[in-house]
Amino acid sequence: MGHLMPFLRLALMLQRHGCSVTLITAQPTTSKAESAHISSFLSAFPQVDHFELQLLPMPEEFDTSTVDPFFLQFDRINRSIHQLLPILKEFSPPLSAIFLDLTLVANFVEIADELGLPIYIPNTSSARFFALLSYLPELSSQPDFLRGAYSDVAIPGILPLPFSSIPPPFKDTSTVFTSTLIRNSRTISKARGILMNNFEWFEESTLAALNGGRVLETLPPCITVGPLEPYKLGNESSENWPWLDEQSSGSVIYVSFGSRTAMSTEQIRELAKALKNSKHKFLWTVKTSKVDKDDKEDLSNVLGDRFLEETAGKGITLKQWVDQEAILAHPAVGGFISHCGWNSVMEAAREGVPILAWPLHGDQRVNAEVVADAGLGIWDRGWGIGDKSLVRADEIEGKIELLMTDTNLRASARRVKEEAAKAVCRGGSSDRMIRDVVKCLVG
Ligand code: UDP
Ligand code: UDP
Ligand code: UDP
Repeated sequence: MGHLMPFLRLALMLQRHGCSVTLITAQPTTSKAESAHISSFLSAFPQVDHFELQLLPMPEEFDTSTVDPFFLQFDRINRSIHQLLPILKEFSPPLSAIFLDLTLVANFVEIADELGLPIYIPNTSSARFFALLSYLPELSSQPDFLRGAYSDVAIPGILPLPFSSIPPPFKDTSTVFTSTLIRNSRTISKARGILMNNFEWFEESTLAALNGGRVLETLPPCITVGPLEPYKLGNESSENWPWLDEQSSGSVIYVSFGSRTAMSTEQIRELAKALKNSKHKFLWTVKTSKVDKDDKEDLSNVLGDRFLEETAGKGITLKQWVDQEAILAHPAVGGFISHCGWNSVMEAAREGVPILAWPLHGDQRVNAEVVADAGLGIWDRGWGIGDKSLVRADEIEGKIELLMTDTNLRASARRVKEEAAKAVCRGGSSDRMIRDVVKCLVG
């Protein structure tokens, strides 16, 4: 979902600026959330054309059981993408550009050349994580990096990254995931531009380094066009929470770890205890398995029936997809406990909701650092590292108190919201950049 949402938001933005857009999705999807969302999106916005790429089966000798199903999907799309050439050739009117996920660029370059199509890469993470991705081929040739001998990882032009923030698989170039990223990262220079769901003010120095050729001389321009505007799907009206409407302004904590991050049962129970003991109200969406299709666990099995009874009136605990953007926009919501998936970060920035960062995987630790540096949230670097990563309830409760009562944090999160609004309003930095991209497409 973290890759799908920004692509869909971008598609609508291009359309608002007069482009005709065809969405190409892969079938089958990994999760139910994706297939449900794609079909609601297409019904809500029939003006977006759709083409479904049927994925080829994985070779039988390939052991799929050990690979993260979402990463496996990148691989499967890569093995199927050549089927697009004859189809895209027939498009009428002919295409003027393709917006492609980074993980697919290497295999698409030849197709794009044959069609004379420029490639834009919508980046699904922070600018700082993009800097790491683009520098990964170089890092992966350093034996000290692979051995984990650094305490900080130096990338030219940007702040050093703590080694603990580097996704562990990046040190193992033999994994499908890392080798795919490295191969694709080497071809970034073939793109005409990197579109960032971001705004200049939020990561100013990193963006300046990327665009000044300091990270890598060969990088195409990184174009900030965000925070991307969310859309409404017709079927979400039932989520107009009467409970939330009754709560006073800024009093409720929203808790969510995104679409693919599950916590251990033990950690979920510590979090439950903290939410129960804290003085603040909460709205919590619990996730117990990575892929939603596998989710058979009942809430009361994980939390116990008592928890739901004891917190009735004080909090709402759910195990379902919610309209996160609407929740963050609700005046009652005053804090967000988040894994720092990049879409969640930009949604919180748009609404000025302070974040208690609890990154768990992948790009999330790098994103959490960006959040803290920008004044949008607080982050305890010790949380969630290694085997001894259980965070105890009293520690969580203390951080919740800080999140909900620190007036300086509220003020700086409000400042982020103002800067985000300035960027996307007419004539703002993000607005000017998307207009320039569109001009380039039609010109
Ligand atoms: N999301 C949502 N409802 C949910 C869970 C997630 O609307 O119940 C949305 C969320 O607003 C965001 C996306 O799904 O736009 C998740 O992307 P993110 O980058 O935050 O995290 P990921 O799921 O990729 O880890
Ligand atoms: N996990 C998750 N979302 C992610 C990555 C991992 O829910 O994005 C869960 C995964 O299902 C498993 C645990 O976290 O229960 C450990 O994940 P992984 O095998 O990736 O281990 P790592 O080596 O990354 O710590
Ligand atoms: N990633 C990304 N853009 C891509 C491909 C991957 O932002 O084009 C992210 C991916 O979503 C993940 C991170 O790179 O968050 C690396 O993930 P890692 O392998 O550490 O995930 P884990 O196994 O811990 O879930």
